[in-house]
Amino acid sequence: MSLREMDLNQDPACATQSLSNYLPKDHPDENKWADCVHCGMCLESCPTYEITGQEQHSPRGRVHLIKSVAEGKLELNQFFSEPVFACLDCRACTTACPADVDVGGLIEEARGQVRQAIPLTGWQGAVSKLFLKGIFPKQTRLNKLGGLLKFYQKSGMQTAVRKTGLIKIMPDHLVEMESIMPEIKQPVREKYKNQTVIPAKGETKQEVAFLTGCIMDVMFSDINEATINVLTRNGNEVTIPKNQGCCGALHVHAGDRDTGRKLAKQNIEAFKDADKVIVNAAGCGCMLKEYPELFPDEPEWHEKAEEFSKKVEDISKHLHDTGYEKPKAEINKRITYHDACHLAHGQGIRQEPRDILLDIPGVEMVHMPNSDRCCGSAGIYNITNPEMAGAVLENKMANVPDDVEMISMGNPGCMLQMAIGVQKYGRNQQIVHTVQLLDWAYQKEDGKGDL
Ligand code: SF4
Ligand code: SF4
Repeated sequence: MSLREMDLNQDPACATQSLSNYLPKDHPDENKWADCVHCGMCLESCPTYEITGQEQHSPRGRVHLIKSVAEGKLELNQFFSEPVFACLDCRACTTACPADVDVGGLIEEARGQVRQAIPLTGWQGAVSKLFLKGIFPKQTRLNKLGGLLKFYQKSGMQTAVRKTGLIKIMPDHLVEMESIMPEIKQPVREKYKNQTVIPAKGETKQEVAFLTGCIMDVMFSDINEATINVLTRNGNEVTIPKNQGCCGALHVHAGDRDTGRKLAKQNIEAFKDADKVIVNAAGCGCMLKEYPELFPDEPEWHEKAEEFSKKVEDISKHLHDTGYEKPKAEINKRITYHDACHLAHGQGIRQEPRDILLDIPGVEMVHMPNSDRCCGSAGIYNITNPEMAGAVLENKMANVPDDVEMISMGNPGCMLQMAIGVQKYGRNQQIVHTVQLLDWAYQKEDGKGDL
């Protein structure tokens, strides 16, 4: 049955009573769809609807499908799974929706149901188990993975694999990812393992704790280092709690709410003494703020998660709200800014990073049309749904102004995806994190760096 054939204006008397075809554990919250009036004002905001033109790949269609399972009109089957997992969870529809329907939250809950009913099997199950359960939640294993990637880059193996054409045995999208892999450096958690408190430079104005992240610290430890530099320069004493872990966003996006909960509890405990938790990855920040959603049936943890989520702050907002030293050195670059979905739509942070860029002397900001449109990264969506991710990226790159030298943003997944876009479409922009630019300006002021 196509959703086009479904009656979108059904009788409210049929409204959900028993959430009939959902499994009892972690069922979607009916209050989240109750306010959807099928107005369609979310349709234009949706990248997957833009590409497919199909109702089931629109926010309105997805909400309707999720509601239909609760009403017993649909099964938890492949027909339901496909549009639910084809959603980017980009939250653009939530911004567009006049009724504040939390489509992203519903999608994540629906994915949890699908994975309970239809667990991944075969190679997909094995890969998911290896990465989501075996590697990401364990810091030592992540560090080992980083070590292997570093060995691959430095030992000459990467050059050999590329020159011999051996790389072509991998699927195209993995070849693309390999080609833009940043240089792997020492993770900051390893660097500061004997010094979990990094003092402020000069007078201490506040104490903050820093979430180093999993992928962030393996792939972009230089951005974590830049974050620490910028924080300490601005009077923040930075604590890096030892027992922190991956935020769990990738797990929750993939429907593994049990592992997401486990990681949430680990982080809530690890940061319990912190007044403020600073995050430099939009996806992680959004997840930490949404930890309460993971504990509908555990009131004690729900309360702890509520307390914790109030302490979470993106680095750009923290700097903006607490005041920061305006850099004096010039960075003479034309820069455009990409709004990471989980910063703009997920956390409502749009102006703060732009203000930081505008405060750097010499920076010329160039407007990117549809700057808050998803780039197609969406966690590991570009690996699980490469075709749709590629189409979303193509649309994104068409909006990147031709004559800019840098594209700035605040999320590691977007940085990787946009780097693929730059390479694939023959562009030459450098991909940078906003805080990295501020750090470079400070360094230049101190006579270091060469920008
Ligand atoms: S999700 Fe919001 S914008 Fe979309 S159809 Fe429902 S009420 Fe309208
Ligand atoms: S979260 Fe993004 S992809 Fe998913 S329905 Fe909303 S706008 Fe579309």
